[in-house]
Amino acid sequence: MNQQDVFKTLELHVDKGSIVSTSPIDGALLGKVQENTPQDIQQMITKATACFKEWRLIPAPKRGALVRLFGEELRKNKEALGTLVTLENGKILQEGLGEVQEMIDICDYAVGLSRQLYGLTIASERPGHRMMETWHPLGPVGVITPFNFPVAVWAWNFVLAIVCGDPVIWKPSEKTPLTALASANLFERAVKAFGKAPQGLLQLAFGYQEVGEMLVNPPHLPLISATGSTGMGRAVGEGVARRFGRSLLELSGNNGMILAPSADQELAMRAIAFASLGTAGQRCTTLRRLFVHTSIQAQITHRLKHIFANAVVGNPLEAGTLIGPLIDKRSYEDMQKALEVARVQGGVVQGGERVLTDKYPEGYYVRPALVEMQKQTEIVKTETFAPILYVMPYTDFDKALAQHNDVSQGLASCIFTNDVREAEIFLSSRGSDCGIANVNIGPSGAEIGGAFGGEKETGGGRESGSDAWRNYMRRATNTINYSHELPLAQGIRFDVGDA
Ligand code: NAD
Repeated sequence: MNQQDVFKTLELHVDKGSIVSTSPIDGALLGKVQENTPQDIQQMITKATACFKEWRLIPAPKRGALVRLFGEELRKNKEALGTLVTLENGKILQEGLGEVQEMIDICDYAVGLSRQLYGLTIASERPGHRMMETWHPLGPVGVITPFNFPVAVWAWNFVLAIVCGDPVIWKPSEKTPLTALASANLFERAVKAFGKAPQGLLQLAFGYQEVGEMLVNPPHLPLISATGSTGMGRAVGEGVARRFGRSLLELSGNNGMILAPSADQELAMRAIAFASLGTAGQRCTTLRRLFVHTSIQAQITHRLKHIFANAVVGNPLEAGTLIGPLIDKRSYEDMQKALEVARVQGGVVQGGERVLTDKYPEGYYVRPALVEMQKQTEIVKTETFAPILYVMPYTDFDKALAQHNDVSQGLASCIFTNDVREAEIFLSSRGSDCGIANVNIGPSGAEIGGAFGGEKETGGGRESGSDAWRNYMRRATNTINYSHELPLAQGIRFDVGDA
């Protein structure tokens, strides 16, 4: 699908505004949107608050019907939106389409969920009493998203919030405003087909960091869900905590794999290639640290060097490309700085250089870098959002595990082994300290059915499946007395006599 058809299909009219969207593919101008002012944001909050008062009264399965309609719009427009993701973010087309598929999947999930927002019934110590939990809509939610999953991360939050009864103000990345606008246009079509939804279920707040801050500080948004770097999350988390709001933080990862001598090496090679090279190393779950047993180190490193040297880097719209461009020049510079530091800290670097400069002088394409390190130095412990894989040898499993956990981030992890003891230890309480821990499957490409997120500086939030919906609701504990007595707790007697 060409760009003109994509824009027409998604009803994008984007020729005015201070935020300029360019394609990482070749630096071409894609469009412009207007940055929102503090007054706009205030109005959005007022509108979302009014919308919430109506939307919370609509039964949840009916709210789910709106999400079903949105899922249908996404199915119809998957090619257009997936292509736009590639144009604006630079990930390969199959990944752009895959991102829209994730949106469709989470819609399906949320529709089912809309009939399963349940609480517990709890045994009461008092005769003639019943105790239970009920879950109520929480209020308008602020959703702040990064550039690397410009629409899926939002959809994971948005459709759950909608079935839970909460309107959303979405602050997309300033690097990917058009995919946000297109998604909002598709949602608007669903709202029209639905017929009777209150105004303001989804509002877009365009802008830079300052616009994100405007959502964080006022007390009107009881939940801020923020996905991005740890630095951003620290600012958001502190701001929201100061006003006793709730935050759901999905932050940086620095994901590791332990490759044991008993592993199926064919499986492992494919997993390493996808997890370290996919999305040009710009996934929060990208594999960045590989601990290889010394007995297989030589052959694994040899094969990886070949894979890294030959992986097809190129235009992400072209079939056969595996690695598209980095998002921008700054990202390229950060990668170069990290490689320089790695060299100083003893690393032997293969790759990492800029390529395709003649064809795309404004595109930042790089050969992925494989860095052999003798030990895990400070640079290895830092997330560099680019395709760099650090490979380190180990001899003792327990020491490798300790090294694996010795980073400030705690998102995704995996072990490749056929030794059941190693596998079970890795998943046990003394094993991986990450929110995602896998055996014989790489750290990236999570399914929406599970709770997604990580520990430590990754922020502790959980999104998507399992019981993540509870983030978007408030819990009330209810006790009902159907007896003629008023037994007090803890056996207390409190005699007030006759009136
Ligand atoms: P970023 O932190 O630069 O920006 C993310 C969003 O936060 C943007 O919309 C930005 O405008 C906004 N923002 C920045 N500072 C803010 C502040 N002080 N207050 C409010 N909003 C603010 O991240 P990025 O470069 O767009 O994305 C890459 C990062 O995101 C990586 O670190 C990656 O690991 C992480 N990430 C994490 C997950 C996860 O689920 N854990 C998923 C995707 C990306």
